[in-house]
Amino acid sequence: MRPYILAESNWKSLKDQEVELAILPWGATEAHNYHLPYATDVIEGTSIAEEAGRLAWEAGAKIMVLPTIPFGVNTGQTDIKLDINMHPSTQAAVLNDVIEVLDRQNIHKLLILNSHGGNNFKPIIRELGVRYPDMFISFCNWFQSLDKSQFFDHPDGDHADEMETSLVMHLRPELVRPLDEAGDGSARQFKIGVLNENWAWAERKWSEVAEDTGVGDPRKATEEKGKAYFEAVTEKVSQLFIDLANADIDDLYE
Ligand SMILES: [Zn+2]
Repeated sequence: MRPYILAESNWKSLKDQEVELAILPWGATEAHNYHLPYATDVIEGTSIAEEAGRLAWEAGAKIMVLPTIPFGVNTGQTDIKLDINMHPSTQAAVLNDVIEVLDRQNIHKLLILNSHGGNNFKPIIRELGVRYPDMFISFCNWFQSLDKSQFFDHPDGDHADEMETSLVMHLRPELVRPLDEAGDGSARQFKIGVLNENWAWAERKWSEVAEDTGVGDPRKATEEKGKAYFEAVTEKVSQLFIDLANADIDDLYE
């Protein structure tokens, strides 16, 4: 039993355990090209939270990793078979209920470890911050924590790409189809060119953008790249866990 993972903990050890920071991994259940499992974002988020949690725990941080929420925002994939969409308003309701428990029990720091690009917690956190003024609520996107070009030949993808494929090859190799079965992950761009820039935005209709549901070429992925990236990401994320756990939320600014 790992005492920093709620799903493995028991009442006997937990009832007197001090918890400074709760960590909530949040994934999605969706198609990932032809070769990766629907749980890809859940596998990644859970594994990164658990390993970063281990590193933080061993450094003395009083943390607790909560069970991963398996459904994310998939509003652009309504026609892709069994992509399970959880609306942002439902996410807000789920978060409210988790935070209500934490707040009542004087665990005033929460970090959402986001594992899915369609999830956007900023407006939700702003609103819940007003409702729970004693809480310090934050989120991080682990997939943006490092420069992918240091690790991968095709770093520009964002879904079922070389990075995600390498990670799952490292974490759950038995769930990855042979790479010669994977699509090339090529994606179409908006004809309205500005919508491809980062100052204007519209949701992409996934089935019209990507032939194989992937965005980013996965075919240079290897288990070794996945291992190196996983170790670097978990190291970086664990430092955030430690800093948040040790922070005085009444004295955050210098
Ligand atoms: Zn993914």
